[in-house]
Amino acid sequence: MNLPDQIKKAIRDVPDFPKPGILFKDITPIFYDQTLCNRIVDEFVRLLGPTKPDIIVGIESRGFLFGILLANRMNLPFVLVRKSGKLPYTTVSQEYSLEYGTAKIEMHTDSIHKGAKVVIHDDLLATGGTAAATADLIKQFDAEVCAFTFIVALDFLNGKEKLIKHTNNIQCLVHY
Ligand code: AMP
Repeated sequence: MNLPDQIKKAIRDVPDFPKPGILFKDITPIFYDQTLCNRIVDEFVRLLGPTKPDIIVGIESRGFLFGILLANRMNLPFVLVRKSGKLPYTTVSQEYSLEYGTAKIEMHTDSIHKGAKVVIHDDLLATGGTAAATADLIKQFDAEVCAFTFIVALDFLNGKEKLIKHTNNIQCLVHY
């Protein structure tokens, strides 16, 4: 079976989670199958190959899962982006708009060096708000976003439009 079909087979649709009207794409069953996990990491490595990144950044919380696997495989540092108030050391923060109100994400001040080529990873691209805010946060370090990687893209929400001003290297393994 090709990789996108195998991923789609593993992903579980959970209707009305976390609130009515949302069809949640649950990636946790992917982690029951380590052969599939390895294929996914292999594919991200292949897609990122020409980019030669310096750092992989993972977005809380499901972005940590393949983010750390990918960083480890590529022998690169892994950096966490977390919601406000979760990181213990001094932080740089970025606010962004939600459907109602705002949210804030943070990174440790010592996590990215000036001029670094950074890959932003998350499990799923929906509206693109979180990934775009992460890219803005990385710019505060005078670093460069060289790629975005996602397992899933919900194409009907046009998340890519918010990201292409940072880079057009946006890699999504499966699309809905
Ligand atoms: P957004 O900022 O709208 O692109 O939302 C992306 C974040 O929300 C990611 O961290 C996803 O894990 C999560 N998310 C949004 N919609 C879904 C969905 N339908 N299923 C699973 N996760 C989702």
